[in-house]
Amino acid sequence: MENQSNFIKTIMENDLENKKHTKIITRFPPEPNGFLHIGHARAIIQNFELAKHFGGTTNLRYDDTNPEKEEEKYVKAIKEDIKWLGYDPNHVFFASDYFGEMYKRAVILIKKGLAYVDFSTPEEINKQRGSFEVKGTNSPYRDTEVSKNLELFEDMKNGKFKEGECVLRAKIDMESPNMNMRDPILYRILFAYHHNTKDEWVIYPMYDFAHPIEDAIEGITHSLCSLEFEDHRPLYDWVVRETEMENVPRQIEFGRLGIEDTVMSKRYLLRLVESKLVRGWDDPRMPTLSGLRRRGYTPAAIKNFILSTGLSKVNSTVSADMLESSLRDDLNDKARRVMAVIDPIKVTITNYPEGKYEMIDVPFHPNNEDLGSRSIVFSKELYIDREDFVLEKPNKHYKRLALGIEVRLFNAYFIKANEVIYDKDGNIVEILATYDEETKSGSGFDARKPNGTIQFVSSLNAHPVTYNFFEPLIMDEDKSKDLLDRFNHNSWQTKEGFIEKTVAYLKVNEKLQLIRHGFFNIDEDSDKDHLVLNEIVPLKKSY
Ligand code: ATP
Ligand code: MG
Repeated sequence: MENQSNFIKTIMENDLENKKHTKIITRFPPEPNGFLHIGHARAIIQNFELAKHFGGTTNLRYDDTNPEKEEEKYVKAIKEDIKWLGYDPNHVFFASDYFGEMYKRAVILIKKGLAYVDFSTPEEINKQRGSFEVKGTNSPYRDTEVSKNLELFEDMKNGKFKEGECVLRAKIDMESPNMNMRDPILYRILFAYHHNTKDEWVIYPMYDFAHPIEDAIEGITHSLCSLEFEDHRPLYDWVVRETEMENVPRQIEFGRLGIEDTVMSKRYLLRLVESKLVRGWDDPRMPTLSGLRRRGYTPAAIKNFILSTGLSKVNSTVSADMLESSLRDDLNDKARRVMAVIDPIKVTITNYPEGKYEMIDVPFHPNNEDLGSRSIVFSKELYIDREDFVLEKPNKHYKRLALGIEVRLFNAYFIKANEVIYDKDGNIVEILATYDEETKSGSGFDARKPNGTIQFVSSLNAHPVTYNFFEPLIMDEDKSKDLLDRFNHNSWQTKEGFIEKTVAYLKVNEKLQLIRHGFFNIDEDSDKDHLVLNEIVPLKKSY
């Protein structure tokens, strides 16, 4: 994976060879208006890995030029997520730290006759812009003289105009085939509180003006962004050139990553959070990095997933299976394997002496000795999974317990079910079984074969667990409906069961493989008397 080649790596290689740059400097520039999602992971991982590959560095830069939507809590969350993925930015910058410099650069444009203050209304500006078919028309303010523009821009900065009363526009080309070049807005007035600069500014730069200047100030060599900015590149280059920035960064676009049936845009994720349909940004069903972390995804699984999707010039949507199998690959040899019962039914071994129990030492993993071992308990009263028992064996493919049928209990004995006990509603509440003491696991007993092997937990060794199971947040296929109407109200299900007590001592976020079920994460809602386990992925896909 490390040596995977891609078109951006090739560009960087050439730039170093041709001595265009001596060092690669990249940046990840999130807007702090929400939590990061798995799509952002592509941008993060590619920026950091590419720079690292060439011995270069990567900055984290908050693109905080839109005070109305940005908040300190997002700044914090973004930093944590990047750290969790294993990356340490060379610098952490804020675009808002450059507001003074940006203002000066805007003044340079005005002095060169390349920017003007426009009092047209937003509707008028839109109309002047024209469309793909219709050429734009000049604003009546386009030829205001330089000295007047300088004065007006300063007045804008000093709060002499109302919000929306005027804007600063670049003077480029109203007939350009590229709409972005038709005198784009560079600054607008916003009487908004900014999380970083507080009340210092009432004018805020637009993304297309701010971003190239930010890159140039930091000496970014390759400014990687997603495909939707391709048409903005001529403007990016224009801004760097005309504001006379010393460093000239190069914008390179790559395809966005999507996952099938997964809503990824921050705007929608924010709606889900605000609607309270989910429990927050870190809800284990969310495709946010904090949601995936809480669910139990590991940084290694995410990184392998991202690298396996490659990097190309087109947007791509991959199946969620790919992410799930990255997790299985990562945890298969690393996670302790333990026995757990998700939907318990009691089994009483009628021929096992009252009060007796046996401790059986079992390794946590069949081929990873480093994980050590623990003791499990076999005793008269046990729990098995309800789905591992039926009254009558239905066919020869059925490899579980039934009346008159014998199975092996993992690491213990053969048991045979003889009788069931019902409650007054006719539900099976207990199975009466007998065990054969000759059949202990590891004894080499081979006189007969059991009808499969199932897991169990002794009531003496049973720790209570709430199991959380998840389905996709959005299930309804009808894309014409509003997202919130497509919400899958069955996307979070719980079960109350048991697990071996050994697990009770593990830490939050420890991952486990529950034998025959799947991979689970110890949720932070756990306490010492009661575990909460999130299913990360089942062993095999079940829906
Ligand atoms: P969204 O549209 O999902 O709300 P965004 O692009 O507005 O995300 P930013 O904070 O502006 O979010 O993104 C920071 C960086 O992450 C940008 O360079 C952007 O191109 C990149 N990025 C965001 N989403 C994806 C994605 N799905 N695939 C690849 N890169 C992405
Ligand atoms: Mg954005």
